[in-house]
Amino acid sequence: MWLERIELTNYRNYKELSTDFSAKLNIFIGQNAQGKTNVIEAIYFLALTRSHRTRFDKELINFDEKSFTISGLVHRTSGKLPLDITLTDKGRVCKLNHLKQNKLSDYIGKMTVVLFAPEDLQLIKGSPNLRRKFMDIDLGQIKPLYLSDLSNYNHVLKQRNSYLKSTDKVDTVFLSVLDDQLADYGSRVIQHRLDFVDQLTIEADKNHYAISNQLEHISLAYQSSIKFTDLSTLKDNFVKQLESNHQRDIFKRNTSIGPHRDDLTFAINGISADFCSQGQHRSLILSLKMAEIELFKQQTGDYPILLLDDVMSELDNKRQMKLLEGIKENVQTFITTTSLDHLKGLPEDLKIFHVENGTIKTD
Ligand code: ATP
Ligand code: MG
Repeated sequence: MWLERIELTNYRNYKELSTDFSAKLNIFIGQNAQGKTNVIEAIYFLALTRSHRTRFDKELINFDEKSFTISGLVHRTSGKLPLDITLTDKGRVCKLNHLKQNKLSDYIGKMTVVLFAPEDLQLIKGSPNLRRKFMDIDLGQIKPLYLSDLSNYNHVLKQRNSYLKSTDKVDTVFLSVLDDQLADYGSRVIQHRLDFVDQLTIEADKNHYAISNQLEHISLAYQSSIKFTDLSTLKDNFVKQLESNHQRDIFKRNTSIGPHRDDLTFAINGISADFCSQGQHRSLILSLKMAEIELFKQQTGDYPILLLDDVMSELDNKRQMKLLEGIKENVQTFITTTSLDHLKGLPEDLKIFHVENGTIKTD
């Protein structure tokens, strides 16, 4: 799939922007703080209705204004699709084909993106929260059902935690009713994530094996806080373990187990990636990103749009070349950089955009 055009009104430092993209490689060049990441962020927002940099949507509205709009026209195998998002102080309105969508799961997934930014270098050694977010963002785009299971899970989790905080006399019968709902949605979330991790591992290992000159295999493992041996017993085990944690949860006034506490681990040749060298680490992340692209294609029928924010400078020449070689002909790619000198192995067929103080000029 590819994004033909984007229009921004009062988004960050863009008062008005309307620009057409190449279906292949697009490069945003400019000095620091001119608005390169802001465009990448706007494309990401249009796909996911959230920013990768902040939880506070208000920050995205131009300082002097009260609302912003992002509009785009995306080409998919099934045809062209206009997308629009407007944020005002009353909230956000997302439209597909000019029609307002009430459910997030109806909107997300129509335009898919894979982002590779310097923050991703924290994915392996950073907090578990980042790895859960990584799975949630990808699964949310690949499987609309995942978003509803996850949002139902989060809803019950919030209810359970509020109940635990609201009273000193917890009714364990009522708590068990919540346990059952939590385990129902939670085991679905875990099942989706297990499938995702299995499939991602196959693709990521292929890439890493090639990048490491056939020296290293990688493996990913989903680490659930729920103990189970067989998927058919997952929900029952979930319920039992919630129950055996009642006293602890009542004391701590929160929910100690469930997919909100799960994690993902990585290993290289069987050894935890926590111990890997910087070079191995970068190859692993690169393999993972390229695997995401392939997985999106397998699962949705369309390649995602690839957003590379400032990452080329994080990769040495060899890994830059691997990345650019790995990007298939039909993966529309956006790269930000302060200078073309940083980039090695660029194809001929590219479109350059000069970014300066919230304006964009093409060559
Ligand atoms: P770098 O090369 O350092 O990554 P960049 O070109 O990616 O720079 P951006 O992060 O896209 O920079 O843009 C930063 C600029 O956007 C800053 O000048 C900042 O003041 C401005 N900016 C951020 N939020 C807003 C906003 N809500 N309204 C107006 N301007 C904003
Ligand atoms: Mg930037």
